[in-house]
Amino acid sequence: MAYGKGVMKGMLLTLQHVFKPPITVNYPEYEREVPVRARTNLIWFEERCTGCSTCAQACPDGCILVQTSPRDDGTLEIERYEIDFRICMYCGLCTEACPYQAIQAGGRYDDAQYIFENMYRNKETLTSEAQEYLASTDGRYPNGQTQDENPLITSMPTARSRIGVAGADGPLGPQHLPSRKQG
Ligand code: SF4
Ligand code: SF4
Repeated sequence: MAYGKGVMKGMLLTLQHVFKPPITVNYPEYEREVPVRARTNLIWFEERCTGCSTCAQACPDGCILVQTSPRDDGTLEIERYEIDFRICMYCGLCTEACPYQAIQAGGRYDDAQYIFENMYRNKETLTSEAQEYLASTDGRYPNGQTQDENPLITSMPTARSRIGVAGADGPLGPQHLPSRKQG
């Protein structure tokens, strides 16, 4: 008798789910929206980066390469910024270490590659991915903030105007000098 009750209970539960809408989507025809702060990938934002290399030092796998040269005004020219996703374990330590939120977790998850070497991304690739991301979010970073809401404030003279931020009004990269927040 107890056995029959168990079967009935299981059948009822199954029936309940038959009439509920599916929770899955037909990927890749349909894609779920990636929530803000999802740790899907790494995105590097050049307009926020000072070239300090803190991220590279924090990475336990040595995935990040930063090469800079000093400018006359004391700022750093970022000549190379590269991430080797072949050995990245997506631990997020680089994102936590960056003082300027120039590297953040988020973005696309459909970046599987047929050619292993393509998982090495250089500055140009990373920048184009970041710009594509910002264009799709109207200038909102993966942490949910815009450049205006979270302006880059640095303690060293790093004012540069290399690139604008896609999807936002006007030229961005407003690096607020000197180092303290205004007002
Ligand atoms: S997520 Fe971890 S392993 Fe990957 S680059 Fe950042 S610190 Fe290195
Ligand atoms: S820690 Fe941040 S600001 Fe410094 S080099 Fe890395 S990404 Fe750029």
